Amino acid sequence: MQSAPTDTEIKDACATLSRNAKDTKALGVIQAAAVEDALPPAMRSRAMVLCALPFLQQMNTNQFGRITQVLLSTYPEEGPAALGLTESDWLAACPSCNGVGAKVVACPPCSGSGICPTCQGMKKTSAGAVCPACKGDGKCARCEGTKEIRNACLECRGSGKVVVISPNIARRYEAVLSELRALASENIQFAEQSKKALAMWNVLERLAALEEVIAAFPNRQDMGPLVKARDVAQAEIDEKAAKEQVRAEQTRIRQERDALYAAAEKLPFSSVPVLVRQIDDFLAKYPQSEYRIELEVLKSKQQTRHTVYTNVWRGLYILGGLIAVLFVVQVVKDWIQRRTRKESLLKIPGMENMDADELTDPLSDSRKAAAAREADDDLGIYP
Ligand SMILES: [Zn+2]
Ligand SMILES: [Zn+2]
Ligand SMILES: [Zn+2]
Repeated sequence: MQSAPTDTEIKDACATLSRNAKDTKALGVIQAAAVEDALPPAMRSRAMVLCALPFLQQMNTNQFGRITQVLLSTYPEEGPAALGLTESDWLAACPSCNGVGAKVVACPPCSGSGICPTCQGMKKTSAGAVCPACKGDGKCARCEGTKEIRNACLECRGSGKVVVISPNIARRYEAVLSELRALASENIQFAEQSKKALAMWNVLERLAALEEVIAAFPNRQDMGPLVKARDVAQAEIDEKAAKEQVRAEQTRIRQERDALYAAAEKLPFSSVPVLVRQIDDFLAKYPQSEYRIELEVLKSKQQTRHTVYTNVWRGLYILGGLIAVLFVVQVVKDWIQRRTRKESLLKIPGMENMDADELTDPLSDSRKAAAAREADDDLGIYP
């Protein structure tokens, strides 16, 4: 038994047979294809037709009938299409019997009269007994009174049909040869293109090539592996894109985080609340961020710095206010003291009736000099 023929062998055998229908090597390839279960039904059924038709052309309808019977029972769907012929292409009505399969002639025993030839229709013998030939009904036993009998046609052996090879048979043989050749060629192309596409290293190119092959062979039944490879490539591309997106997102988050640090470095302390708000926004936007802890620390440091500065300034303000208050108190105290001292001088005996403003310090050289000294040093303490 021959091994399964390759697509190239089948293609070459078809080419050879269309030139020389008797090439034994090519016939051997087609016969091997006809019994090869692994071949696609469209191919194997055509190989079977190529085996059957030569028998028909040799009028060997028995062998042709056996092969077509196997063909039609194995491939009820593809079989009739592969054969592409009907009975009318090789059978015609028998010209001898006009397709009836038999010839009608006048009944010989009764010579077409339908009357029993033994008793001549009298139903009885001359001796008066019941006629043994017609059993007493008087009709011809052979034709039962119908006057004629049917003889099977010898030309068609009673079938009414004779084999007449129409030119369709030869045409169909050539057509099947080219159909099978085209199928084999398509297999070869498909195998080549699939192999090339599957071997592509770059996944984008591979996906494009696979889709091209899938689109180029829309009717094939063996697309499974290619479709699967296409889905794998697509998944790979999707995964890459998703990773790229994640990376871009991470870069953007890091840039935002760097911007916060840059802002923190040259920040006037009065702007700390703005930065804190920005950090809070960042943490709300990216709650799962890896920078969460360090940004919390940054925020806390900035807040501490802000608190310290605020307290220092507050302290300075309070100190300033205190000094101002002390100054005012001192001024008021001095004024009161001056008044008190002048009033106390008036209590000295002999000076009661004097105007306080007219008083002259007895220890000073003159009132005028005392006034000048007072103007010089408004915080001056009197001895
Ligand atoms: Zn006939
Ligand atoms: Zn008869
Ligand atoms: Zn009779």
